[in-house]
Amino acid sequence: MTERSPIVIVGTGLAGYSLAREIRKQDKETRIVMVTADDGVSYSKPMLSTGFTKGKDADGLAQAATATMAEQLNLELRTYTTVTGIDTDGHRLLLGDNSLTYSKLVLAWGADVIRLAIPGNGQEWIFPINDLGDYRAFRKALKPGSRVAIMGAGLIGCEFANDLRNGDYEVEVIAPSDAVMPSLLPSAAASAVQTELESLGVGFHLETTVERIEPAGTGVSLFLANGKTLQADIVISAVGLRPRTQLAHAAGIEVGRGITVNRALETSAQDVYALGDCAEVDGHVLLYVLPLMACARALAKSLTGDRTEVSYGTMPVMIKTPCCPAAVCPPPVDAQGSWETEQDGTDVKNLFKNTEGDVLGFAVTGRFALEKQALSKVVPPIHS
Ligand SMILES: Cc1cc2nc3c(=O)[nH]c(=O)nc-3n(C[C@H](O)[C@H](O)[C@H](O)COP(=O)(O)OP(=O)(O)OC[C@H]3O[C@@H](n4cnc5c(N)ncnc54)[C@H](O)[C@@H]3O)c2cc1C
Repeated sequence: MTERSPIVIVGTGLAGYSLAREIRKQDKETRIVMVTADDGVSYSKPMLSTGFTKGKDADGLAQAATATMAEQLNLELRTYTTVTGIDTDGHRLLLGDNSLTYSKLVLAWGADVIRLAIPGNGQEWIFPINDLGDYRAFRKALKPGSRVAIMGAGLIGCEFANDLRNGDYEVEVIAPSDAVMPSLLPSAAASAVQTELESLGVGFHLETTVERIEPAGTGVSLFLANGKTLQADIVISAVGLRPRTQLAHAAGIEVGRGITVNRALETSAQDVYALGDCAEVDGHVLLYVLPLMACARALAKSLTGDRTEVSYGTMPVMIKTPCCPAAVCPPPVDAQGSWETEQDGTDVKNLFKNTEGDVLGFAVTGRFALEKQALSKVVPPIHS
């Protein structure tokens, strides 16, 4: 490491760019180099599941070109550059045959999509969508009137189901759970979202899995464990994400479910930090935008000389299913209590209360979704 080594940020997703922006609010001059495996185009990933609803294709969802970002943030951007290792003792980032010395290194390299090893010859019809490039490839493969099968009924599967129906595509959702978004929503709220998606024309095949995918005509046949066979022209895989930890682990950096960092976003290696989808912050793996923004604000202060710990407020998750607007703020994992339900059709207010009657979490759908801000003020933050 030399005196003039830059701060190096790996990843130009929301975590990397938010951090660079926050640093520039404090410090206009310190040299920053951003390294990314992709094209570095700035976009808001949550918008990927709103393309048809908002009438935008992949280019329409792009917010700023790479050169614009580099100029605005006064930094050097190395695109299509994949990090292959980290030499923590030498403060060097390994880039294949090249290397880059850093003064501080920030890992903001996101999460990998989980890929199911489904038997059959239909793999090329399966599209995971976790970045703008994935979305571009998906939209290119999608033809007018395509029948879309979505594997996974989590937040992303449900949002794509709603969006594709808004684009007038036939949509079938397949998932092993007995409800949609089982790890996020209590049953009344989940069933409200499912009911409204069904009214919109989405077909659900729950409590089953896809056992085999084989080419059939111009599309595929999906053979389900419950004995049914579905026909589709294209398949979205939305079965989950796994924080990218491998390279950090290989470099001797402590990892758990994500790259382990404390509330100052410090890894176990000196001068190496992590935030965003790749990080496990003080035990929390939160693959959402609000947590990474809070982390970016705190880390920018630390990197510019004022060591700061992240303080999460209450962070509700908005579910972008316009047919049934929904918001959820799950209770802490170790919270004792139970869900209470107030319901009028698919307008649901689920409150998670402890024995003292304190509200520790909520899930609201339909007209009750309007109460999300008021409820967010009542529930305790994840950790202050
Ligand atoms: C369809 C969809 C909808 C969503 N909706 C919401 C929502 O409504 N609300 C919400 O809060 N969250 C939502 N999320 C989650 C949210 O978008 C993510 O938490 C967030 O965008 C993650 O940002 P990130 O910068 O950590 O990772 P990413 O955006 O994945 O960025 C990772 C970056 O690292 C780079 N990279 C990876 N490996 C390497 C390497 N080895 N070398 C160099 N570069 C590398 C990549 O090229 C990329 O630039 C949604 C996610 C999806 C997929």
